[in-house]
Amino acid sequence: AIDTSKIKAFGLAAAGHDGVMSDESGSVIIKPCTTAEVAFYEASVTSHPKFAAYMPTFFGTLQLGEPTANSIDFTPPVHNRNTNIVLSNIAYGFTSPCILDVKLGAQLWDEGASPDKRARLDKVSDNTTSRPLGFRVAGMKVYKGTGAVGSDPAIDATGYRVFDKYYGRAFTAGNVIDAFKEYFTSEISSEQVKLVVSRLLRKVSEIREVVEGQESRMYSASLLFCYEGNKDAFEVALKEEDRRKEREAKEQLDEDGEEDEEEEEIKKVEDVKLIDFAHASWTPGQGPDKNALHGLKNMERFLENLSV
Ligand code: ADP
Ligand code: MN
Repeated sequence: AIDTSKIKAFGLAAAGHDGVMSDESGSVIIKPCTTAEVAFYEASVTSHPKFAAYMPTFFGTLQLGEPTANSIDFTPPVHNRNTNIVLSNIAYGFTSPCILDVKLGAQLWDEGASPDKRARLDKVSDNTTSRPLGFRVAGMKVYKGTGAVGSDPAIDATGYRVFDKYYGRAFTAGNVIDAFKEYFTSEISSEQVKLVVSRLLRKVSEIREVVEGQESRMYSASLLFCYEGNKDAFEVALKEEDRRKEREAKEQLDEDGEEDEEEEEIKKVEDVKLIDFAHASWTPGQGPDKNALHGLKNMERFLENLSV
């Protein structure tokens, strides 16, 4: 249950509209949404479980009144979208999450878009990596460490450096690798980066395989990447993974099969999910989503380059 009086602004949105919120615990995000996005989540959970495994967990919708200035401290969404979607927070379980939003597709508009909107988004695509690569960096929040605070004015008091949508728009196909290098420059070691990159690559490949096997259209959806940027927390999360695996292996051997499901807070090393389905739909009979696959394949290629 969500205590709506304790909803707060979500500080770790890497891109998109203002108005993303989270609950008191921070384990879920609450985001203004369209009916199309809710419908896509519902259809995915019901009929496309393989795909749904790479989405945030969908907990349903929540109606909220217009926030008042003294109840919630954030900028209300520009659209009149009172319906909110409740999703698992991908950045939950990290000490210092490093977030990267990669927007997929060279075509960024769906069939419902006006000629004006199509022209505007086509121009953005033409002038960014969206057209040639089928993806662009939409925004990042990278933990550079508290040691860097003060030495670099671009780093905030919590050790984060924020890269907005204009940062990602300035890259070309020839130099966008530098954006990914910036993303993977945090407090963690080069060994730790190698591990994270190889794991993220494997997951993006899995996502690409699932998308190849299904018939959907996603315009302006994103890959949301997250990894632990705190060196020590990274090691703790790795050790916890090992312990969890050992315990799970032991439980398999337990004859009585009684699982003592202790609700522990899981610490994560990395994660990547597909998000932002305001312009996504299931399209049986139309074949795989070439537009999204173009970006997914190029994303794999860049991660492969970074992993060697
Ligand atoms: P839009 O781009 O339409 O405003 P998004 O769904 O892309 O909406 O959300 C905006 C931002 O909020 C994303 O760039 C991401 O950083 C953050 N966000 C969205 N969904 C999640 C989630 N489930 N977990 C963590 N962060 C999220
Ligand atoms: Mn978005």
